[in-house]
Amino acid sequence: MRQVNSSHPADGQLRVSTLNEQSRSVPLSREAACSWICCRDAELADLLSLARAVRDSFKPRVVTYSRKVFVPLTNLCRDYCAYCTFRRDPGQAGAHTMTPDEVLEIVRAGERRGCAEALFSLGDKPELIFPEVRETLARLGFRSTLHYLEAMCELVLRKTRLLPHPNPGLMSRQWISRLAVVSPSMGLMLETTNAALLAPGGAHYQAPDKVPVRRLRTIEEAGRQGVPFTTGILIGIGESPEDRVDALLAIRELHRRFGHIQEVIIQNFRAKAEIPMCHHPEPSRGEMLRTIAVARLLMPEINLQAPPNLSEPDYEELLDAGINDWGGVSPLTPDFINPERPWPHLQELEQRTRRKGFVLRQRLPVYPEFLSLSRPKSSLLAARLDATVDAEGYARRAA
Ligand code: SF4
Repeated sequence: MRQVNSSHPADGQLRVSTLNEQSRSVPLSREAACSWICCRDAELADLLSLARAVRDSFKPRVVTYSRKVFVPLTNLCRDYCAYCTFRRDPGQAGAHTMTPDEVLEIVRAGERRGCAEALFSLGDKPELIFPEVRETLARLGFRSTLHYLEAMCELVLRKTRLLPHPNPGLMSRQWISRLAVVSPSMGLMLETTNAALLAPGGAHYQAPDKVPVRRLRTIEEAGRQGVPFTTGILIGIGESPEDRVDALLAIRELHRRFGHIQEVIIQNFRAKAEIPMCHHPEPSRGEMLRTIAVARLLMPEINLQAPPNLSEPDYEELLDAGINDWGGVSPLTPDFINPERPWPHLQELEQRTRRKGFVLRQRLPVYPEFLSLSRPKSSLLAARLDATVDAEGYARRAA
C-alpha cells in the first residue's frame, strides 16, 4: 500500500478531502473502489487527480498505441451477444470467412502503411453449431477455426513484417500453447464477472462463451504459460458499478499470481440501431472516467487502455483519468466491431495526445516490458520480434 498526494505527486503522499482517509490508499481496497466509482460529481476532480498522479509515477509522459490492421478472419460465431454487430450466421448478408490470400492482402497493405500488428478478431468456434462452417474449413484444409487461425498467424509471421495478435475467444491450455508459438501476445476480454447477464434478456443470453468463470480460466491458463495477455472490461451492458470493480479485482488477482496481464482495456458499450440492445443506455462520460480512474487506482502499475473511437468527441479527456495507451488504431481498416465509429487519423491522435502533454509512441502488440516472455516461445517469433522492435522495446518504425 502507498499513499499518493495528487497535489504533490513527487513526494508520494496523496491528500483528498472529500472521501474518507482509507480511500487514499493505493492500490485501492474493494470498499474504497466501490465508493470512488460512485463518487459525486463534486468528488470527480479529486479522483481524476489521484489517478493521474498514479499513472504519471508509473509511466510519465509517454502514451502508446499500436498501429494495426484488423483481420476479421471469420465473422461467423456460435454466440449471440446482444450488443454485437460483428457476428453473422451462415447465409446472412455479410457473412464471410477470409481466404489466406485475403489475409495476406490486407496484412501487406498494413505493412506498406507502417503497421506492426495484425489483430485477428473472429467469432468463437462457429463450427460447433454450423455445418456450413465445417464445410468451409474443410475446403480450406482445416479441422477447426483455431487450426485455421494458427496457420494464418504463422503465414503472417513468415511472409510479412507484422506480428499477429489473436483474439479468438475461449482457448484451452493446448490452444494457448500452440498460438503462443506464432504470436507474441493474445487477448480475451473478460467483459464482466456478472453471470446474471447470461439469463434471458441479459447481454450474454445465448452466449455460452461469455460465462465469466470460463473466461477467467482462459486468462489464468495464459498466465500459467507466461503468455503476455490483453484483457479488459466492457461497461454499460447491464452490470453495476460494483460489478465493474469486481471484474477489475479478478484481473488484478490473476496478474498478482502470474504477472502476465500486459494491458487492461476499459471499453464502453455503444448502442447501434441493428442490435437487440439498441435502446439500452450508453455509459456516460462520467461513468467512463470514474471506471478508468478506479482501474488505475486498483492497478497502479498496469497498462490501461481505452479506445479513442468509442469516446469521440473529446476522447483525449480519457487521459485525465489515467490511461496510458490508446490501443490498436488502424490507418487502413475500419473497426469491424464498431464500424460506425471510424478510427481517428493518426496525425490527429498524435496532436491531441501532445496537447495533453504526452509523447505518442507506436508499440508492438506486445508491450516492451513483456517482450522477454514472448521471445522464448519460438525461434521464428524471436526472429520476427528482433526485426521489428527498437532499442527501447517499441515499434522500430515509429510514427
Ligand atoms: S461479441 Fe464476440 S462472442 Fe459475442 S457474438 Fe460477437 S463475435 Fe460472437
